[in-house]
Amino acid sequence: MNVPSVKETTKPSNFLRQIIEHDLANGTYTTRQWGGTPGDAAHHAQGKLDPAKIRTRFPPEPNGYLHVGHAKSICLNFGLARDYGGVCHMRFDDTNPEKEDAEFVRSIIDAVHWLGFGWQAFGDDNLYHASDYFDFMYRAAEYLIEAGLAYVDEQSAEDMRANRGDFGKPGMNSPFRSRTVEENLARFREMKDGKLADGAAVLRAKIDMASPNINMRDPTIYRIRRATHHNTGDKWCIYPMYTFAHPVEDALEQITHSICTLEFEDQRPFYDWLLEHLAETKTLPDGRVVGGLISQPVPRQYEFARLNLTYVITSKRKLAQLVKEKRVNGWDDPRMPTIVGLRRRGYTPESLQVFAERIGVTKSDSWIDYSTLEGCLREDLDVKAPRAMAVLDPVKLVITNWNELHGAGTLDDCSAPVHPHLPEMGKRNFKFGRELWIEKTDYEPVPPKGYNRLYPGNRVRLKYGHVIECTGAKLDAAGQVSEVHATLVPDTKSGTPGADGIKVKGVITWVSVADALQAEVRLYDRLFSVPQPDTGEQDFLEELNPDSLKVVTAYVEPSLALAKADDRFQFERHGYFVADRVDHLAGKPVLNKITGMKDSWAK
Ligand code: ATP
Ligand code: MG
Repeated sequence: MNVPSVKETTKPSNFLRQIIEHDLANGTYTTRQWGGTPGDAAHHAQGKLDPAKIRTRFPPEPNGYLHVGHAKSICLNFGLARDYGGVCHMRFDDTNPEKEDAEFVRSIIDAVHWLGFGWQAFGDDNLYHASDYFDFMYRAAEYLIEAGLAYVDEQSAEDMRANRGDFGKPGMNSPFRSRTVEENLARFREMKDGKLADGAAVLRAKIDMASPNINMRDPTIYRIRRATHHNTGDKWCIYPMYTFAHPVEDALEQITHSICTLEFEDQRPFYDWLLEHLAETKTLPDGRVVGGLISQPVPRQYEFARLNLTYVITSKRKLAQLVKEKRVNGWDDPRMPTIVGLRRRGYTPESLQVFAERIGVTKSDSWIDYSTLEGCLREDLDVKAPRAMAVLDPVKLVITNWNELHGAGTLDDCSAPVHPHLPEMGKRNFKFGRELWIEKTDYEPVPPKGYNRLYPGNRVRLKYGHVIECTGAKLDAAGQVSEVHATLVPDTKSGTPGADGIKVKGVITWVSVADALQAEVRLYDRLFSVPQPDTGEQDFLEELNPDSLKVVTAYVEPSLALAKADDRFQFERHGYFVADRVDHLAGKPVLNKITGMKDSWAK
């Protein structure tokens, strides 16, 4: 199959694009107004016509580092907004008081920026914190009580659980369900004022205890929890539940398409129930007209299948465990599927964008093979990475007739294109001399069948250099090859007239002892040795690949002396490498293997 190059990739349609295109064609959102910041219906009513054709959002909980699954969600939400003249909000979903960490907030912002996205549009910054909406959420809760749509339940946790029923059994109404509006309001205010203990009561939506959808059996919308919140401090001792908070956040921000993963599908009826009731107006028994808290049309939720990638774990909790137990060297360990890890490993933002595009969005769960991700990276780097030669497992090669032919101590200039298809990238220069480094595996005293590289009597070309003929090897005391010996075949230098007169079957890469740089090379492999480390009976820690990191001292071409952190290279024959963004120093290269030249894992 001919895989399209990164540039040619056209965006395949998907069900979300179809929904958006349908909404745009029907003008579903053309009359929406935008107050310049999130807010209630009155706030937006004073605003201008929304310049954004659609609004999406990326709403991480700042309780960990983002991973490759989040990258899919980021590319999807920000990408759709970009493609359809909209805006994607960056929203920290920090309604849970227990977890929030400035380090995570910073890393999330960095990750989204690095992937190539931003949230500034039409003069607004669009970076929001869900905890800024607590006041409105409280007001919305009181409104539901007033409208007879919520009640304070003081059943024990056990009774609540028992009375919820299950899939086969309808639930039973709580004895507190028939409280009057006044009673509910008073009790809810007592909850807010800290008069009740943690867990003593909850506020529940009053829907239908017999609903076949358990999420509609009077879900809890507020709970008592004495906890200091990073943003609101000790102002609140009651906090909204996620299922209540999330639709409200979307509504205040005028989100048009609220895209989430499939596990929220069963929550959609409550999402719609809540927003419908907050948007409509009602006439109370005393004649007062209330409601209309949020503007219309209300946001809609759409679900897509989360990314499952083979050989990869994407549970934040388990990733945290790998870090805490020092199974890896931190969140940005190049073996981690976190965005910081992928970045340090050498992945490019473009490769992740193409990956997200190529895997598409579907409505059913499936597994994507890790090689798809690596394939996107190879395609991207193949067209832009400078080439270089490197010897990862070196043994010395001595050209025994060099001094005779060229004179002792002389060096010969060789050069090669930086990129075979981009002459504008120029040439790289390096020396050829009497002593070179080659890969140990490029010499065999007794060649296996089909082996075309160095063995006594065989001729090979040293790429961009000369043809040599192997004459044997010197062994050390332990019987290991310590030097390979060869003679140079005159008049065979690459690029000189007649150089191709002598045909050889093997071409090998090399660097010369005179000008090669020593480099620390970290050879990474997959972190887990089984495709689905998180789904079997086995503890995922037992599935760690013991060979996921091997550090070698290699020799690299002198062109690497100028490498800066994050510079990526293709080492001919070996694959793609990046100068480590943490440990690399000019003149003292530290390189990470990103991936091999082709997919070798499957074999
Ligand atoms: P975890 O359960 O590991 O903590 P999460 O899904 O709760 O992850 P959030 O911070 O809530 O993490 O996620 C932010 C957004 O990223 C959500 O909209 C969520 O749907 C999306 N997301 C998370 N994991 C994936 C995944 N594997 N594939 C696609 N989208 C994902
Ligand atoms: Mg979550």
